[in-house]
Amino acid sequence: NREFKEEDTKIRIGEHVELGGRAIPIIAGPCAVEGREVLDEIADALHALGIPMLRGGAFKPRTSPYSFQGLGELALKYMSDVRSRTGMPVVTEVMDPRDLLLVYKYADVLQIGTRNMQNFKLLTEVGQVDKPVILKRGMAATIKEFLMSAEYILSHGNDKVILCERGIRTFETETRNTLDLSAVPLLKKLSHLPVIVDPSHALGRTDLIPAMACAAVAAGADALMLEVHVRPHEALSDGSQSLTPAALQALLDRVEPVAQAV
Ligand code: PEP
Ligand code: MN
Repeated sequence: NREFKEEDTKIRIGEHVELGGRAIPIIAGPCAVEGREVLDEIADALHALGIPMLRGGAFKPRTSPYSFQGLGELALKYMSDVRSRTGMPVVTEVMDPRDLLLVYKYADVLQIGTRNMQNFKLLTEVGQVDKPVILKRGMAATIKEFLMSAEYILSHGNDKVILCERGIRTFETETRNTLDLSAVPLLKKLSHLPVIVDPSHALGRTDLIPAMACAAVAAGADALMLEVHVRPHEALSDGSQSLTPAALQALLDRVEPVAQAV
């Protein structure tokens, strides 16, 4: 908390990205890595837009066991090939302590998904590695519970924790979740950690993403995480909330002036 450390924590990822600094980095990519060719298409489009960091799921926490579960190590290899080719650091989710060494080998940043925010064994394990961790807020977690989960990682020695607001469950059904933007200034007040926002999973639809991305930046977010796919209608997961590269470009045109102003 702020009593422990007054100044903001800055976390450097790769050579160019710094979270907690002033610029507004974007982490973008598909929900899941679906194959080498489609990943390369997406990554090349993102790289051409100057997006500094790639996301992509290799191990997918799907609601149904019959849905696409991710390509596992193959997906990690494809992403690390993108990194070699473009220099973009890669973020990917680790779901199980048994996969940690494998994911660690390929990823620059480990992601803990909303469904695992209170998987204390997993938090303890990622607390013992030296790579940054994006901790996503549990979809029914209070701010206090969220911060306590961050403590599990920090207290085991890993001080590179990035908090991610990704929407919480409410009675509203027009959006997939409800983006709790008050969490951003609140977390920044209570904690020294960088706070990022994922409007894609919060909204579950693309039309509202640019407005909420602007709002997140205005609220003080240190970075945005966005799902992008070259053919969202063909995506094996979360196509309905995936922006095309052209839609991402339009979003950047709206977000950048807001980032300059905050
Ligand atoms: C994801 O980022 O692909 C993901 C599954 O997110 P969440 O854990 O927030 O649902
Ligand atoms: Mn997704």
